[in-house]
Amino acid sequence: MSPEYEIINYKRFRPSIVANARLELLHTGMRWAEGPVYFADGDYLLWSDIPNNRILRWVEGGGVTTYRYPSNNANGNTRDRQGRLITCESGGRRLTRTEYDGSVTVLADNFQGKRLNSPNDVVVRSDDTIWFTDPDYGILSDYTGDKAESELGANHVFRFDPRSGTLDTATAEMVKPNGLAFSPDESILYVADTSISHDPAGAHHIMAWQVVDGRRLVEPRVFATIEPGVSDGFRVDTAGNIWTSAGDGVHCYAPDGELIGKIQCPEVVTNLTFGGPKHNRLFLTCATSLYAIYVGERGAQRP
Ligand code: MG
Repeated sequence: MSPEYEIINYKRFRPSIVANARLELLHTGMRWAEGPVYFADGDYLLWSDIPNNRILRWVEGGGVTTYRYPSNNANGNTRDRQGRLITCESGGRRLTRTEYDGSVTVLADNFQGKRLNSPNDVVVRSDDTIWFTDPDYGILSDYTGDKAESELGANHVFRFDPRSGTLDTATAEMVKPNGLAFSPDESILYVADTSISHDPAGAHHIMAWQVVDGRRLVEPRVFATIEPGVSDGFRVDTAGNIWTSAGDGVHCYAPDGELIGKIQCPEVVTNLTFGGPKHNRLFLTCATSLYAIYVGERGAQRP
């Protein structure tokens, strides 16, 4: 068994890992990396180096190049159902879509006339709606955006419908909403709250919300409390397990909330995503580095 693994529940975690797979360092030298998104059509990965104001691209067998500079301090990335890049611009305070010709379309930059805080992380539902978090991290200092007062005065989870162009709030009840992902059947939206970053008594957990009518969030409950560190970003596999970033690596939670195992990592893990042609390779953005490891599950999110 590779030394990176810490198995807590052997029966439940053993099928989810590849015993001799090792953590591979793919790249280093970022200032703070987040937002990995995989493109199977080119076997490459994009991710954000937020303070360095750039999006990087790693190509299997081809090294790393700069994909976009300046990136308006891009943070979270994903793809829509049509394969286009969707980006949370922390510094740009907007949600964008990169079209097939490379042009960038602004999808949302305000809610009811007030500027967004600093979009952080994003997922797309099977009905094409785009769900993203908008905490105030990017406007608290000049490090990953421009310091400013929040015009909204709240940190929302938003739902954007690209067909109608409407932006609705899904909830404003979380203190600092951060990473998010749907369960495989999309009946649950998991959203991390990482408010301990600015309040020692704050949250370091993942909330589970029931999704009603594809648009409303009800019956919030604490799904898992992350220790050490926070769940800055996470993804769900086809079995419903949640693989989340944490202070000491990756933590894997079964759908019932049991912590079944960990992958130890030499740096703080920020975000992660499934990738590779079979969707069974976990790409980890860490503080300053990009790692990958093959696992025994496949990611639920496509493309
Ligand atoms: Mg984040």
